[in-house]
Amino acid sequence: TTLSRQFSSNRAVMAPIQKECEFLVLGGGSGGLSCARRASRMYGAKTIAIESHRLGGTCVNVGCVPKKVTWNTAALREAMEDAKAYGFTIPGEPTFDWSLFKQKRDAYVKRLNGIYAKNLDKDKVELVRGRATFVNPKEVEVTLEDGSKQSIKAKKILIAVGGTPTLPPIPGKELAITSDGFFELEKQPKKVGTVGGGYIGVEMSGMFHALGTETHMFIRGPKILRHFDPMIQDTVTKEYNRRGIKIHNGSQITKIEDIGDGWKKITYKKGGSEHTMEVDCVLYAIGRKPELNDLQVDKLGLNLDDQQHVVVDEYQNTNIEGIYALGDACDKGFELTPVAIAAGRRLADRLFGGKNDSHLEYANIPSVVFAHPELGTIGMTEPAAREKYGDSIKVYKTEFTAMYYAMMEPEEKGQTAYKLICEGPNERVIGLHILGTGSSEMLQGFGVAIKMGATKADFDRCVAIHPTSAEELVTLK
Ligand code: FAD
Ligand code: NDP
Repeated sequence: TTLSRQFSSNRAVMAPIQKECEFLVLGGGSGGLSCARRASRMYGAKTIAIESHRLGGTCVNVGCVPKKVTWNTAALREAMEDAKAYGFTIPGEPTFDWSLFKQKRDAYVKRLNGIYAKNLDKDKVELVRGRATFVNPKEVEVTLEDGSKQSIKAKKILIAVGGTPTLPPIPGKELAITSDGFFELEKQPKKVGTVGGGYIGVEMSGMFHALGTETHMFIRGPKILRHFDPMIQDTVTKEYNRRGIKIHNGSQITKIEDIGDGWKKITYKKGGSEHTMEVDCVLYAIGRKPELNDLQVDKLGLNLDDQQHVVVDEYQNTNIEGIYALGDACDKGFELTPVAIAAGRRLADRLFGGKNDSHLEYANIPSVVFAHPELGTIGMTEPAAREKYGDSIKVYKTEFTAMYYAMMEPEEKGQTAYKLICEGPNERVIGLHILGTGSSEMLQGFGVAIKMGATKADFDRCVAIHPTSAEELVTLK
C-alpha cells in the first residue's frame, strides 16, 4: 500500500518528492532489513528502506535459501542411492523433474518475499522500491520503478547494498552463468564446467553432480577450498574425486564459444598445454564484488579498500560521519547472512537504543559449506594458529568412517574428519574443523562453547552421545 500510494503520487506530481527520515537504509537484504526493522520496531526511529530488486536480497533470492533447498534435493538423491545398501530395491533410475522443482523453489522464495514485505509494514519501516544514488552525505536520490525520481534526506544512512558475482575478462564470458544464473536454469544441464574452488564452486558442483549432471571443476590451485584448514582441503578434494566429480586442478579457462543447441566449447590451459571440452553450461564462482556502482560514493570521498569494499571500523562507521556500512558491501571479510544480520541489529542498538558499545565481534564466527559431505569451520586453521602461537598449540584430529556407511561397500564409504586446535597450558580451543554427514547442524552448539572460551578439558567433561559422529569430538586423544 505504501508502494502504490508512492507510485500514484509520483505519477501526479512530476517534480522530485522530498522525504525526510531519521534513518535511511540502502538495500533490503539480510543486513539492511535487520537493522531497519530493529531501529523502527524497538526504538521508534523513522526509518525508510530502499530496495531495487526483490526483498530479502541475495540470501533469500539467489543465495542461502534456494541453495539450501537445492542441496536438500541433492541429499535426497544421494540417500536414494545409499538406501540400496540398506536393502531397499529402487526400480530403475529415479527420475528428477528439474523444471517442476524450480517452479516450486521459485514459489517458496516468492512467499518469503511477501513475508518480508509484511514484516516491514508491521515494523513500520517505509519501503521505497527503486535504485539509490547519493546526492550528498545526507541525501539520496531514488530512481523509482516507473523512472521518476525521489529525493530522501536522512540524519543517518546505512549502506547495505551487498554484492554481485564477478566474471573474468575472457572471450565468450557472456555465455557463462554465475550463481545468479544457476537459480534461473529451467532445465538441468547434462554436462557442466564450473570455475572456482570456493564456497559457491564447491556447493554448486556438488549439487549438480548429485542430481546427475556430469560435472567438471576447473580450479587454478591444487585443491578445492584452499583457504580452509589443510585437513578440510585434502578430505573434501578426495571425497569429490571419489564421488566422480572431475577436478581439473591447475587449470584456467581462456575462451568460451557458442557451438549451437545451447552447447559451448571451452578452451582451457592445464600443465602448459591447451585443451577443449564441450559442455551445455559454464558456471563461474570466482568471488563477488560490492554493488557500489550506482551509489556514486566517489563523490562523497568514502574510503574503499582495493576490492572496492567500504572500509568500516569495528562499529560499522565509515570515514564519513552519519554513514555506516555492513554485510557484503563492507570490508570485514565475512560474506555471510548471519554476520550481516548480527552487525545490523547491533548497529541499530547503538545508534538508536543508547547501547554505545554495541558492535559485532568478528572473531570465532562459525561457517559451513554445504558440500558433499557437509563441512564446517570456526576459528583458526592449523597453519594460521602455528604462525600466531608457534609451539604452544596442540592439535587433536581423527578420521573415521561414520556408522551410516556400515552397510556399504568400501568404495561407497564416505570419510569423516575432525580437527580441534588448542592453545596454551589450558588448551583453549581456538579452531575446530569438521567434515562429514551432519556437520552443518553440529557446528552451531560447538560454536557456543568456543565463543564461551571452552578448553579441551571442557570438551572432555561433556559426556558423549552415542552412537553419533559428534561424540568423537568429546573423546579426542
Ligand atoms: P544482500 O543480501 O546482497 O542485499 C543487498 C540488497 O541491496 C540487494 O537486495 C540489492 O538489490 C540491493 N541494492 C544494491 N544496490 C542498491 C541500490 N543502489 N539501490 C537500492 N537497492 C540496492 N551466507 C550464509 O550465511 N549461508 C549460506 O548458505 C549462504 N549461501 C550463499 C549462496 C550463494 C549462491 C550466495 C551468492 C551467497 C550465499 N551466502 C550465504 C552469502 C549471503 O547471501 C550474503 O552474505 C548476504 O546476503 C549479505 O547480505 P547483505 O545485506 O550484505 O546484502
Ligand atoms: P570464494 O571467495 O569462496 O571463492 C572464490 C574461488 O574462486 C576461489 O577458489 C578462488 O581461487 C577462485 N578464483 C578467484 N579468481 C579466479 C579467477 N580469476 N580464475 C579462476 N578462479 C578464481 O567466493 P565464492 O564466489 O565461492 O563465494 C562468495 C562468498 O559467498 C563466499 O566467500 C562466502 O562468504 C559466501 N557464501 C557462503 C556460503 C555458505 O555460507 N555456505 C555459500 C556460498 C557463498 P583460489 O582458491 O585459487 O584463490
